[in-house]
Amino acid sequence: MDFKLTEEQGILKKTVRDFMEKECNRDYVRECDEKEVFPEELFRKLTALGWLGLRVPIKYGGSEAGTMELAIFLEEVARVMLAAARIYYSLYLIGAHYISTFGNEEQKEFCLPLLVKNKIRFAFALTEPNSGSDAASLTTSAVLDGDEFVVNGQKTFVTGGKIADLILVMVRTDKTAEKRRGISMLLVDSRSPGITYRKLKKLGLWPVDLYEVFLDAVKVHRRNLLGGVNKGWEQVLKVLDHERFCLAAANVGGAQAVLEDAIKYCKERYQFGKPIGKFQMIREKLADIQLEVDAARLLTYRTAWMVGEGIPCSKESSMAKLFSSETYMRAAWKGVQIMGGYGYMMEFDMQRHFRDAKLTEIGGGTSEIQRLVIADNLGL
Ligand SMILES: Cc1cc2nc3c(=O)[nH]c(=O)nc-3n(C[C@H](O)[C@H](O)[C@H](O)COP(=O)(O)OP(=O)(O)OC[C@H]3O[C@@H](n4cnc5c(N)ncnc54)[C@H](O)[C@@H]3O)c2cc1C
Repeated sequence: MDFKLTEEQGILKKTVRDFMEKECNRDYVRECDEKEVFPEELFRKLTALGWLGLRVPIKYGGSEAGTMELAIFLEEVARVMLAAARIYYSLYLIGAHYISTFGNEEQKEFCLPLLVKNKIRFAFALTEPNSGSDAASLTTSAVLDGDEFVVNGQKTFVTGGKIADLILVMVRTDKTAEKRRGISMLLVDSRSPGITYRKLKKLGLWPVDLYEVFLDAVKVHRRNLLGGVNKGWEQVLKVLDHERFCLAAANVGGAQAVLEDAIKYCKERYQFGKPIGKFQMIREKLADIQLEVDAARLLTYRTAWMVGEGIPCSKESSMAKLFSSETYMRAAWKGVQIMGGYGYMMEFDMQRHFRDAKLTEIGGGTSEIQRLVIADNLGL
C-alpha cells in the first residue's frame, strides 16, 4: 500500500496548480463570478494544453488520462475556481464520458475531436420539475415516427443548457415498461426547432447559467440515440461511480481553498493584540477543516483508484461524494465565521465558497440519496 502520488502524478498536480494560479488569478475568478461571465479565456487556455480531452480516447485526439490523474486535475482546478471544475464536468466531461463509453463509431468520430478542440459543448438533462431524486420517474417522452423521435416534455436545472451545442436528454421511450427499463438517451441539438429555454437565477456558481428546457415536438434523428433503446438508465448507473469521484475531487479542491484562505487570514488579522490564529476556538475550527479535507481526499482517491481498476464501488463513491461535499460546506461555514464580518462581505472570496459549496450537497444526487446508497450496501 502506497499513499504517495507517482512522480508523473506529482508533476501533473504541480503543473495544473501553477497553471491555475498564473492563468486564473483571483481578480479573474471574482470578475467571472460577480458579472456572471463564462470563463471563456480560461477554457481557451485549457484547450490549448489539451486538457479538455483528458477523458477522451487517444484515437479521437484526447489523452485518455487515468482516473487518478482526472481526480488530481479536477481538484487543482477547483482549488482556484470551483465553477471552472463544475463547468469542466458538466459541459465537457459528461459528454466525453457518455459518448466514449456508449456512442457508436459515427458519434465518437463526430463529437470527440470537436470536444477536445472546444468546438462543441454538452449539457446533461435528466432532472424534471416532478422528477429529481426519483430521476427514473421522468416523463419527457420520445416517440419514434419514421426515422425521427418526436420529443415532448420539460427538463429543469440543466447546467449550461442553452450555451451547449448538444444536450444529452433522458427520455421515456416505453411507457408500459417498469420505469427504469423504458428510458433512453438522445443527443439533441440545442438549437433544434421546438426547444425553448428559461434561465434560472441561483444562489451560487454564477459563471455558468442554469436553464429550464422546454421540448415541444422536437424532432431528433434516430442516429442521435446514444446506446440502445430503453438502455438509458443502465447507462446512467454504469457511469455513476465515475461521476461521483469527479464531483468529490472538485469538492476537495474547494475545501482546500477555504482552508488556505482561512489560515492566511488568521495570521493577518489581529484582535486583542494577537493574530486570531492564536485563539483556541479559531484553531479548533482550522484543525477540523484540515482533518476533514484530508479524509475527503483519501476517500476520493480511493474511489478514483477503484473506478480505474474496474472494481464496483457504489458505496465508496457515494461516501466520497457525500463526505467531500459536506466537508466543503462545513469548511465554508467555518471559514465565514473565522473571518467575522469580512467573511460576509462580497469583496472577499469566502462568501463565494459559502454559496458554491451548498450546491455540492444537492447536485449529482443529494446527501440524503448518497446516505441511502451507502445504507443499501450494508446488508441490512
Ligand atoms: C445548480 C444546479 C445544477 C444542476 N445541474 C443539473 C444538470 O446539469 N442536469 C440535471 O439533470 N440535473 C441537474 N441538477 C439537478 C439535481 O441533480 C437535483 O436538484 C437533485 O438530484 C435533487 O433533485 P430535486 O432538486 O428535485 O430535489 P428532490 O428530489 O425533490 O428532493 C427534495 C429533498 O428530499 C430529499 N429526498 C428525496 N428523496 C428522498 C428519499 N428517498 N429519502 C430521503 N430523502 C429524500 C432530498 O435529499 C432533498 O433533501 C442541478 C441542480 C442544481 C441546484
